[in-house]
Amino acid sequence: MPSESYVITICSDRQKGLMQAVLEVLPQAHHSYSMRHLAANFYSEFKDVLLKRLFWRAARTLRESVFKDTMEQIKARNENAHKWISAIPKESWASFYFTGDRFDVITTNRSECFNAVLKNARKLPIASLVEHTRWKTSDFFQKRRVYGDEWRTQLTNNAEKHIRLAKEESLQYVAYRAGLHIFEVRSVQIQDSVNSHLQTFSCRVFQTIELPCGHAMAAIAITKEKKSVFLL
Ligand SMILES: [Zn+2]
Repeated sequence: MPSESYVITICSDRQKGLMQAVLEVLPQAHHSYSMRHLAANFYSEFKDVLLKRLFWRAARTLRESVFKDTMEQIKARNENAHKWISAIPKESWASFYFTGDRFDVITTNRSECFNAVLKNARKLPIASLVEHTRWKTSDFFQKRRVYGDEWRTQLTNNAEKHIRLAKEESLQYVAYRAGLHIFEVRSVQIQDSVNSHLQTFSCRVFQTIELPCGHAMAAIAITKEKKSVFLL
């Protein structure tokens, strides 16, 4: 059983039996529902592209005010759609309320891809199926090791891209130092705060994906300590 310091997060498509099985086998795990599946079910129920977009926005936002406002927009457009979503615990799908660590992974796309790779192997006898799965997994990791060896940057390609975009985003902010480790970061619409010591950001991007956001980059830009203040 995982300890409190290492709690597993499960992302599932809510297939019959999975919810109960996770509760029984991994009672401490955080269980997230795949938004791709939820959004597809939602769309097949209400057939409204705008509603589906609003649903994704409610799922992705890390700000409670945006979540509430989006839910109100859904309600105003279709009360039944709002009831449908409200019947699903928001802690299981909305990023703002999710208590585990899922690093912005809100679909089961990765496992679906691997599932597709093994599709034909399902017909094999059990020993061959296990061997085929072992071989495919080994091949999967080997290809990625070769790919990773080509990187010449300190972080992964995705992390580097995120930081580049955060730097660009930071240009629209004005940062003020409000204490040794506290910064206020303002934009036209909203004011955010950054605590470099506690590594907390009121936009919650850092807490969610553990990479600096545009607010952090704006704060870093006005410090001289840079890496010593922000443990980046
Ligand atoms: Zn931020």
